[in-house]
Amino acid sequence: MSESIQSTGYIGRFAPSPSGPLHFGSLVTAVASYLDARAHRGLWLIRMEDLDPDREPPGAAGIILQQLADYGMQSDQPVLYQSSRLAAYQAALTTLQDRHLCFSCGCSRQQVREMGAIYDGTCRFHPPKAGKKVAIRIAVPDQLIEFNDLIQGVRHYHLAKETGDFIVRRKDGLFAYQLAVVVDDAYQNITHIVRGCDLMDSTPRQMFLQSCLGYPSPVYGHVPVITNELGQKLSKQHFADPVSRSERRSILHAAIRFLGQNPPRKHHELGVSEQLDWAIEHWDIQAIPKLATIPQHGLPL
Ligand code: GLU
Repeated sequence: MSESIQSTGYIGRFAPSPSGPLHFGSLVTAVASYLDARAHRGLWLIRMEDLDPDREPPGAAGIILQQLADYGMQSDQPVLYQSSRLAAYQAALTTLQDRHLCFSCGCSRQQVREMGAIYDGTCRFHPPKAGKKVAIRIAVPDQLIEFNDLIQGVRHYHLAKETGDFIVRRKDGLFAYQLAVVVDDAYQNITHIVRGCDLMDSTPRQMFLQSCLGYPSPVYGHVPVITNELGQKLSKQHFADPVSRSERRSILHAAIRFLGQNPPRKHHELGVSEQLDWAIEHWDIQAIPKLATIPQHGLPL
């Protein structure tokens, strides 16, 4: 990377979970984070969030990296694999525990479902019996978290009422996404996070963890997620098709248009790097629709 790129101080990232190949929805998120980073002459990093081996088909991480390269996007630094970062997550968890912010929770999924969306603090006040398999939760205070989303505008969340005590280490011993992502965003000095609106509710949790661990909070921007005809997020679980290599010109064109950018006619006939160059030069994050979801039906795909 040239000095001028590094000197802007912007560091963005795309952090896929390798549970299967990229589909159109995840490609859109990758493109948004890439364009925003490049338009700021910043760095763009790829982080593989491979913390849950049971949900990761062999080879998926390599396929995702190849798909991103096919679409003209490569990490400016070696890809960080979360599976190599367990000691850092343990150290962060120990810090939280030393500060008496965590408690063990033996509640089953069913019990938590019956509480409604918000954990009711059962194990915070009545610790589970010794020997029981437990998750570790962080106790959230009665506090308002506010942030100005780059795309969706100002957001407020009341931690105790809207988020509740949340899991930082799962019952099966795996570190939770919320903890790992915060540790790595700080480790990689990420300044800007552009990702899907499905993670909007995670942002107050992550900002709270950042404050507990003494990390700075990056700037966040949440891109609308694409839903299928049943209103579900396009996802590997819902059998969204992987983005194809052979149609990458027209698919990239559709992704850029989905992001509200307005490339010239016949732009889809250009190669991916020419299309990206145009989009970097003309990038307008405010043109991204200020919506949480957009149905796939009717998209220019
Ligand atoms: N790994 C998460 C996912 O694939 C995204 C994490 C993030 O961008 O914060 O949904």
